[in-house]
Amino acid sequence: MGLHPLASEASAALLVVDQQYDFEPGGALPVPNGHEIAAPIAELMNQFQTVVVTQDSHPKGHISFASSYKNKKPFDILKLADVEAKKIDSIFDREILVRYLKSVPEQQQVLWPDHCVVGTSGWKINSKLPIEKAQLILQKGKRVDCDSYSAFFENDGTSTGLANWFRAKNIQKILVVGLAGDFCVAWSAKDAEREGFEVVMDKNLTRFIYSSA
Ligand SMILES: [Zn+2]
Repeated sequence: MGLHPLASEASAALLVVDQQYDFEPGGALPVPNGHEIAAPIAELMNQFQTVVVTQDSHPKGHISFASSYKNKKPFDILKLADVEAKKIDSIFDREILVRYLKSVPEQQQVLWPDHCVVGTSGWKINSKLPIEKAQLILQKGKRVDCDSYSAFFENDGTSTGLANWFRAKNIQKILVVGLAGDFCVAWSAKDAEREGFEVVMDKNLTRFIYSSA
């Protein structure tokens, strides 16, 4: 890879999403071929002046974990209607689940295998990435009762402050890379656009859980 065309633009930033061992083959929630993009992303981190790295960071017993529910398995969908119909048995009180699911898109949550639990080996960012080049390491998903796919907003709409952080640095364009292309990368890119940034994506610098469609 040569010099990326955006790397020399002072108003452009690189946003590296969740390039963590749990999202790579061998991890708890592996994205097929997710490891392949670590080396090229590392190279980009050395080229850009403004770099943000996100780190999915959950406590044990997180609301997005299938293990927090009886009779649910990873990749099942938790739906508001089922919680309201008292069909869900969870470590969370029903009122908490109802409030959360009413606040998120489509009033539902994909349930995942336990992943990116703070302090575990799978939570760590791939060591190929020169994280000392990042001005900000944004840990997201830390609230036990709220998931956060996007780097900009938690799933219930709470801002992470990242848009203002970029604006304070006069950033206008953001190259979004990392894992997974159909969840955290896609939601981050969509929110960046909504916040008025020009978003650049490169399918060679992401990998998908379900599909590349
Ligand atoms: Zn997560």
